[in-house]
Amino acid sequence: MALYVQKFGGTSVGSVERIKAVAEKVKGVRDQGHQVVVVVSAMSGETNRLIELAAQINEEPTPREMDMLVSTGEQVTISLLAMALHQLGVKATSYTGAQIGIRTDSAHTRARIQRIETDELRADLDEGQVVVVAGFQGVDDEGNITTLGRGGSDTTGVALAAALKADECQIYTDVDGVYTTDPRVCAKARRLESITVEEMLEMASLGSKVLQIRAVEFAGKYNVPLRVLSSFEDGPGTLITADEEISNMEEPLISGIAFNNNEAKLTLVNTPDVPGVASRILGPISDANIEVDMIVQNVAPAGGYTDFTFTVAKNDFRQTQRILQDQVIPSLGGGELRGDDKIAKVSLVGVGMRSHAGVATRMFKVLADEGINIRMVSTSEIKISVVIDEKFLELAVRSLHTAFGLDRADVSEEQ
Ligand code: ASP
Ligand code: MG
Repeated sequence: MALYVQKFGGTSVGSVERIKAVAEKVKGVRDQGHQVVVVVSAMSGETNRLIELAAQINEEPTPREMDMLVSTGEQVTISLLAMALHQLGVKATSYTGAQIGIRTDSAHTRARIQRIETDELRADLDEGQVVVVAGFQGVDDEGNITTLGRGGSDTTGVALAAALKADECQIYTDVDGVYTTDPRVCAKARRLESITVEEMLEMASLGSKVLQIRAVEFAGKYNVPLRVLSSFEDGPGTLITADEEISNMEEPLISGIAFNNNEAKLTLVNTPDVPGVASRILGPISDANIEVDMIVQNVAPAGGYTDFTFTVAKNDFRQTQRILQDQVIPSLGGGELRGDDKIAKVSLVGVGMRSHAGVATRMFKVLADEGINIRMVSTSEIKISVVIDEKFLELAVRSLHTAFGLDRADVSEEQ
């Protein structure tokens, strides 16, 4: 007998029919003799609908009331799912986050789980109940309802799996797993059997938004085996594991290609090369709460001038330009600003890079052969990122996908 935590996202419970289908699926697992905790999201679109309602009443609702409001979406789905299970003759009880003892801090709308009381949960499971828990919510020490940030039901699922030491946390969603890259960009993208937590974090932070990042971090920290599966078709999905041995059997070198065209690049040309320049440039940027991603400073001839380049989110491009122009350049006493928001970042991700040299060289060669100019490079132990012109994004992803042997075998023609 195994214990599974199964989380179903908004589209998986998006209609009465789908809720019934989830109940059938859960019943199937119960019939095999396993224990099941189910975590559900609100029906798809519901959380947004609630947020819009609030906006019509008050432009700046307090975070506490927002949590009170948006947590109701999940309360609808837990009760409906429990009813659907009863209809199939399955014993089930639904609980809100507060009822089941998901204790969080008081940071409304982005609370963090601090502990989970599992006694009642265990008792129910031992009685043969399916326990249905509202995702995305908890309660603080004062008894206020809190929520965990958008997409937070994933984190509820993983946290419950960690607290209960479940055999697996299964995240059912509308895709059948984690892919080598976005199939909309590269038709030859392939579902991965498994991926390491570290790789998944790199892929997720770069735009493969299958799971809430915090849920993946949680899984890594508490060693929870995590699986992403489709709720619409049967299949093994993708296992996300902290264990590199397991994951490495399949992908020796590169696990995937992530990309992002939501960044813009800023360069200060000919800034004086003296100690403290980097912090004088970036200080005012971070004071404005603008996040900087890649940073490159050119090596300057002795006593000379240097070029300093960094990237920010496209949304922050104009404001960053203003800060540089109005504050930084005057304070440095020199420098000229260049900006480019038609860029894309493409990254190869793989723990296999740790033990294999030459990945960067191969990457640069592939891009050169396609006539793609590299504008910036950054590397970490398991990732190499390049910034290129946005118009080459798809070409770069597809050629790298082929060159690093990631193409699936059964799609031979380009889309
Ligand atoms: N319902 C919440 C949201 O839409 C939480 C979740 O779905 O995970 O963000
Ligand atoms: Mg989600």
